[in-house]
Amino acid sequence: MSRGGGFGESPARVYDAGVISQELLEILACPKCHTKLQLKEPDQLRCPRCKVLYPIVDGIPVLLIEEGKPEGGASSSPSP
Ligand SMILES: [Zn+2]
Repeated sequence: MSRGGGFGESPARVYDAGVISQELLEILACPKCHTKLQLKEPDQLRCPRCKVLYPIVDGIPVLLIEEGKPEGGASSSPSP
């Protein structure tokens, strides 16, 4: 049997998930010190004052103090 329709292929268009717009970036602030955040990686925001990195999940910044990871230095995750 042959299948009809061309819906089996993955869509060419890729979601913009993980990309924060400049406008959004302007209004984002560190939950600790309320300093404007910088986009360090496509999926990471950085507070220049706290030196903390906040993750961006599916294009949504997770600005929770407990989600913040200290920049460099003490890394809790073991690397092989
Ligand atoms: Zn901060």
